[in-house]
Amino acid sequence: LGIPSVPLKLAERRKSRKLQVGSVAVGGDARVSVQSMTTTRTSDIGATLQQIAELTATGCDIVRVACPTQDDADALATIAKKSQIPVIADIHFQPKYVFAAIDAGCAAVRVNPGNIKQFDDKVAEIAKAASATGTPIRIGVNAGSLDRRLLEKYGKATPEALVESALWECSLFEEHGFRDIKISVKHNDPVVMVSAYRLLAEKCDYPLHLGVTEAGPAFQGTIKSATAFGALLSQGIGDTIRVSLSAPPAEEIKVGLQILQSLGLRERTLEIVSCPSCGRAQVDVYKLAEEVTAGLDGMEVPLRVAVMGCVVNGPGEAREADLGVASGNGKGQIFVKGEVIKTVPESKIVETLIEEALKLAEQMEQDGVAS
Ligand code: SF4
Repeated sequence: LGIPSVPLKLAERRKSRKLQVGSVAVGGDARVSVQSMTTTRTSDIGATLQQIAELTATGCDIVRVACPTQDDADALATIAKKSQIPVIADIHFQPKYVFAAIDAGCAAVRVNPGNIKQFDDKVAEIAKAASATGTPIRIGVNAGSLDRRLLEKYGKATPEALVESALWECSLFEEHGFRDIKISVKHNDPVVMVSAYRLLAEKCDYPLHLGVTEAGPAFQGTIKSATAFGALLSQGIGDTIRVSLSAPPAEEIKVGLQILQSLGLRERTLEIVSCPSCGRAQVDVYKLAEEVTAGLDGMEVPLRVAVMGCVVNGPGEAREADLGVASGNGKGQIFVKGEVIKTVPESKIVETLIEEALKLAEQMEQDGVAS
């Protein structure tokens, strides 16, 4: 039919300024980083460092901690020093905590200069202190806390209102020659959020921190974030992401990494390709897929394992994967690298797949392909 070939890639990445959040570069050609925020009291140094360690082990690149009190500000120096990943202090209204966070060696500060200006105009001093230490600032505009002036002008938190607010906040720092900024314009509606980021991406070259705010419990928040981030990242927009879930922060990291892996923006780790099952299935596909997933949990190599319920698509998918099973008649044909290596009874499918997966993983590790 003469169908032209299409490139297997996303749109070219938007050209943003690169800045350094501690050891992690954000923007420019740096890989899209994944962030989360601790849920402990920051003043509880032990609990906060424990949660940061869990996040680090899950693959978190940058962590943010809230700083609403003096006790929290006092804890920042120890946390910033002992954390294995860069720590961002999240501050609202109180300029004294911004200075404390900069002094404490935090890798960046999230603060909205509009709030500071309103209460105690210390923007010039913050710009000076942040410049002197090379501490970037994230301006985080949020639909829920949009400036009253803009709410009156636009009627509600429209994309235009969010972007105008962000650019105005930036201008408060730019007046003092400070441009080490990244921006977020979060909204709980993915359509508004995507529109706001698209608009913002055209209006400035600051790196963008993507987030759907108050995205909800794990299931809904995952879908909302994946939909919105997918739309933006596939257009090359977004330099760092935070999935917000009403769930433990490590779950946010898992979802964020999966989104990036699905878009080919991160090395893949284990991928289970399993069919949804249907009236043709001759084995319990859900159970098989669950057991294989559980058995291979934590595997770091980029292994693709297919678990298929019958011979319609089974052999094709199993052959395409590194390892797979095409089931039928109470048996499973086990494929490794495109070849059938054996046929086993249904009761042996899971253990055979796990056994073969471990052999392949070992081989891949020896060949140096672990991600
Ligand atoms: Fe149905 Fe077979 Fe396809 Fe699974 S592989 S969805 S059982 S047709």
